[in-house]
Amino acid sequence: MVLQLADAYGRVATDLRISLTDRCNLRCAYCMPAEGLDWLPSPARLTDDEVVRLARIGVQQLGITEIRFTGGEPLLRRGLPGIAARTAELRPRPEISLTTNAIGLARLAGPLRAAGLDRVNVSLDTLRPATFGELAKRDRLDDVLAGLAAAAAAGITPVKVNAVLMRGMNDDEAPDLLRYCLDRGYQLRFIEQMPLDAQHGWRRENMVSAGEILDSLAPHFKLTPDDPAARGSAPAEIFLVDGGPARVGVIGSVTRPFCGSCDRVRLTADGQIRNCLFARDESNLRDPMRAGASDDELAGLWRRAVAAKLPGHGINDPGFLQPARPMSAIGG
Ligand code: SAM
Repeated sequence: MVLQLADAYGRVATDLRISLTDRCNLRCAYCMPAEGLDWLPSPARLTDDEVVRLARIGVQQLGITEIRFTGGEPLLRRGLPGIAARTAELRPRPEISLTTNAIGLARLAGPLRAAGLDRVNVSLDTLRPATFGELAKRDRLDDVLAGLAAAAAAGITPVKVNAVLMRGMNDDEAPDLLRYCLDRGYQLRFIEQMPLDAQHGWRRENMVSAGEILDSLAPHFKLTPDDPAARGSAPAEIFLVDGGPARVGVIGSVTRPFCGSCDRVRLTADGQIRNCLFARDESNLRDPMRAGASDDELAGLWRRAVAAKLPGHGINDPGFLQPARPMSAIGG
């Protein structure tokens, strides 16, 4: 029997983000310091079987309808195609998607498509190799672009692209990024930088806001708001570009929060349920699972974790405290 993941504010979580690893092969300035972080030791990480078991409980007992694999960088998880294939065998079959930097996707797009991957979001913040090197501290732009093209060629469509703009680095690139994506049929979404970096370097005054992003696109494209009813629980405000059908999205997590329609819940690579990116508490499913908890018991713990979800992320509250874990360890 399905008993959904409801909270006290009338929201129901149906979209499960599973972080498969906290490791990453890039060092994006808004996420991680150049020297990297202390990664989770492998025994702390859920095994492939444990990930699939929790995905099954989510789908069969808790009403999860979409599963997104993320990280860290999920393509670094060797078992990803197998985990995706086993997730695709769950009934009712969840929609399966991936958030990735696309390094390695040129090789993996075909196998992942065959495993059942339905959709992909690729992070691409710049088209300039030098800026990529400055922002991500690695010279991998060509690999990212090849991965994007491979995803489209493998039919993992629509290919979505996520871009974060950083002041003084790539904040002049919004029009070029949009043109690049429009030319290739990719759906671009800009994301406001959130206070989730391990270095705690986020400053509101440095953040490139949704308003600024739209202003920088305005001289180059005619943007008209899409029907807001089509947005549903999606975080992006969508605009038709030059009358459509092409579209661009802007995710104003900080200046235009959408917590009231949030339908997400997160499972970290070490088996903790987080009811919000910005939650300060987590609920441990890994240890009870390893101690022999039944599916019903794990589902109960999971439901209690979501029931305690706060009404909003609180970034704009005077007493806001950044969560202890950075984005890479939570799963973006
Ligand atoms: N490595 C994968 C990738 O690059 O897409 C998946 C994990 S990454 C944490 C997921 C998404 O979070 C990426 O689109 C990334 O740009 C975004 N992200 C990371 N830190 C962020 C921050 N501080 N503010 C806004 N978005 C952030």
